[in-house]
Formats: sequence, C-alpha cells, structure tokens
Amino acid sequence: GYVARSAFKLVQIQKQHKLIKPGSSVLDLGCAPGAWLQVACQSLGPLQNGGGFVLGVDLKKVKVPPLHCDSRVHTLSADVMTLPSHHLISLSPKQKGFSVILSDMCPSVSGITTKDAALSVELGMRAFNLAVGKASPVYADDDSSTGVLQVGGHLLIKLLESEDSKEIGQISKPFFTKSTWLRPKATRPSSREIYLICQGLKPHPKI
Ligand code: SAM
Repeated sequence: GYVARSAFKLVQIQKQHKLIKPGSSVLDLGCAPGAWLQVACQSLGPLQNGGGFVLGVDLKKVKVPPLHCDSRVHTLSADVMTLPSHHLISLSPKQKGFSVILSDMCPSVSGITTKDAALSVELGMRAFNLAVGKASPVYADDDSSTGVLQVGGHLLIKLLESEDSKEIGQISKPFFTKSTWLRPKATRPSSREIYLICQGLKPHPKI
C-alpha cells in the first residue's frame, strides 16, 4: 500500500503524462510522508534493469523505506526555500541535475484563504526558480544561478488556485514545450488544489 492517498494523484498524472520513465532522475520537493517517492520509484521500473534515481526533500523526516522504495530512493531533511541549487545538483546523478522535478509542497493550511494561496504561490515559485535558475524572470535570491532541471525535463507543481497561481502558469509557458493544468480525481471536491504540468524544458527560452 501507499503511505498516503496523495499517491493516487501522481498515479493519475503519470498515466496521462508519463513524466517519469525508466532511467529518470527525479527530485521530489515536499516528499513526506513518502507516497510520491513510492510512485516515482515504481515508475522507474524494476531495479535489476538499472538506472533511475529519486531524491526527496522535506522539512519533515521521511520514515524510510516506504514500501516499493529501493536503493534508488534517497531523502534529505531541509527547507526548500533556502536550500541552494548547487547543493541539489551535487546530490544528483553525475552532478547533472534532474530530468523530472515534482513539487507537492504546501503550507500547513491556516484556513485563511488568501494567506494559504500566497504561501502556496511562494513554494510553487521556489520550485520553478530552482528548476530554471537565473533564467527565471522572477528570480530573486541567493546563489541558485544554475537550473536544477535538465533541458528536455519536466516540472510538476501543486498550487492552490488563485490569480497568482495562474500567473505562474503564464511565466512558465515560454520555458517549456507544453504546459497544462490538471485537477486529479483523488482531490477532495472542497480543495482548491491544482497541478501545473510543464513538459520539455527548452534550451534557450525566449521570454
Ligand atoms: N507528496 C507527498 C506524499 O505523497 O507523501 C505529500 C506532500 S504534503 C501534501 C506537503 C509537504 O510539503 C509536507 O510534508 C511539508 O512538510 C512539505 N513542505 C512545506 N513547505 C516546505 C519547505 N519549505 N521545504 C520542504 N518541504 C516543505
């Protein structure tokens, strides 16, 4: 079994978009309790066929190993808002970055709609900035100059729907071959969460 119901969201996204393939190197931001780690590892195919890598990052420690996870799955306890991109790159296979970045990060919900949406946008924006690096038009901070996502790679970001979340969709568009929105069936009807799926990072995006 999966450690959380959220697994079924990634299962559906995988079915429709096949972001993770055998051999993919996956960065899973906000990975605890680890259900997406399970789905990501399964999507890499059998261990004996070789290849593939998953790094999960979360503020919370993941009780490893969740079922279906094997030696290709690694975890790191850290705050993604302050984690430098070069550190993530140093942890990637051959220091070449990742071919898939997933962000299921969300703030602990306060119930105040506008506050939750703003925090969710901050986390989503951080995932986007880490992925594309200094090419980001909203790039702000620290030493993260190199994008962590490989050219041709895919980026998935969970957001709470708001005007600002739509803006991330607009900002990301020129960077990718294709970008779409998806509301998984496993999402509770009352929830405003929605996933931005960006496929095929372009080498030299024209912004
Ligand atoms: N995808 C996970 C799974 O399937 O098990 C569930 C993720 S849960 C909905 C959201 C996670 O985002 C929480 O575990 C939370 O600790 C994490 N998170 C929120 N802000 C974070 C941050 N700044 N850095 C790292 N993780 C963060």
